[in-house]
Amino acid sequence: MAFELPELPYAYDALGDYMSAETLEYHHDKHHKAYVDNGNKLAADAGVSGDSLEDIIRNSHGSNAGLFNNAAQHYNHVHFWNWMAPNGGGTSIPGNLEAAINADLGGYDKFKADFMAAGATQFGSGWCWIAMKDGKLEIMKTPNGENPLIHGAVPVLGCDVWEHSYYIDYRNARPKYLEAFVDNLINWEYTAQLFEQASA
Ligand code: ZN
Repeated sequence: MAFELPELPYAYDALGDYMSAETLEYHHDKHHKAYVDNGNKLAADAGVSGDSLEDIIRNSHGSNAGLFNNAAQHYNHVHFWNWMAPNGGGTSIPGNLEAAINADLGGYDKFKADFMAAGATQFGSGWCWIAMKDGKLEIMKTPNGENPLIHGAVPVLGCDVWEHSYYIDYRNARPKYLEAFVDNLINWEYTAQLFEQASA
């Protein structure tokens, strides 16, 4: 299945100062588009254009670095745009997900501290996550384009800690960006949908 660049699910200026229109224009229109274009070329070269995105990611890991990086980054960014929403973040979390955060991650405050620490300590480019593994939520971090799919887990929430995600708005202050993501940007409804799918 060919990769396609999705539209942003909100206006470029919808996230206000927490993530500027300039950041979203570069990040979506340039960076994500490049993953889509390169991924389509490399998937065609590898003869796997008919496979699902998830299969391409799992099968190319460790054997075709170019295809893996572009396919995984396409997957990560498709979700990343939906993991944010205007007036998002904070503690208004749908009930089942909130109960799992309490049971598996030690409650909201511990989730926030551990998620931010995972993002802040990911050396260089990468992502921090809530992932579902063996029926439980856990906090993870991964380098570059890697994601929980190749670790036997399913992403439920992810934050992009590549500099292209925050350098315009926060310069080198990655922890400030992570705090704004948790307090003001997380789309908990979308996160809860992925949690329900992963739990089914
Ligand atoms: Zn990115």
